Amino acid sequence: MTNITQNINQVRARILESAKKHGRNPDDITLLAVSKTQSADRVRGAFSAGLTRFGENYVQEALDKIAALGDLPIEWHFIGPLQSNKTRAVSENFHWVHSVERAKIARRLNDQRPPGLPPLNVCIQVNIDDQATKSGVAPDELPALAQAIAELPRLRLRGLMAIPAPCADPEHQRQPFFRLRQQLDTLRRRLPALTDLDTLSMGMTADLEAAIAEGATIVRVGTAIFGERNATPRGG
Ligand SMILES: *Cc1c(COP(=O)(O)O)cnc(C)c1O
Repeated sequence: MTNITQNINQVRARILESAKKHGRNPDDITLLAVSKTQSADRVRGAFSAGLTRFGENYVQEALDKIAALGDLPIEWHFIGPLQSNKTRAVSENFHWVHSVERAKIARRLNDQRPPGLPPLNVCIQVNIDDQATKSGVAPDELPALAQAIAELPRLRLRGLMAIPAPCADPEHQRQPFFRLRQQLDTLRRRLPALTDLDTLSMGMTADLEAAIAEGATIVRVGTAIFGERNATPRGG
């Protein structure tokens, strides 16, 4: 596990350094450890090394881990594509969903959220660089979706998430993150009743500095913590 500990320290140092460089309070930036394809034991190791928030992409794989780690106070974030037939399991077992892109999915998450749990935190995934193949709502459909989610009492709309196309140049990396922040600012002006819009979920291993420069409040980091993924993920 020492290498996970070292990796976490390195990621924390990257976050601190870029926060400092851009005049941001590092306490405003949450590190979400992306544990897709990692075993429950490795998640347990990362928890022992100080991480408490984990992101998962595949529902069945996540449910197995959540059950195996039920003794730990982990905050689980769902960050993958979400089909209608999996909304119940997600709404019952997760604290956050970053990847809402349709009103129908939002309504199901709302209706299926167990009464004993607090409202489910959600972000809307935005297709910020207009990629035909990528998921996310188009920016011009964002206000209507945000309004629809705002009316669902069992969901708490927290902000926006994006996965821009990979790009090696740090300056270009900032552009889609800048646009996502603009989208959040616009939403705040248009929907002033939504007072919980505090989240920009953006930045991964390769571009977390660029995302922090543009205002990320949650960075989702897998490879830099757990190493390269080589396991084949289980479906769904
Ligand atoms: C896999 C994944 C990540 C983490 O990517 P790394 O490059 O390994 O840090 C972040 N967000 C989402 C939505 C992912 O699917």
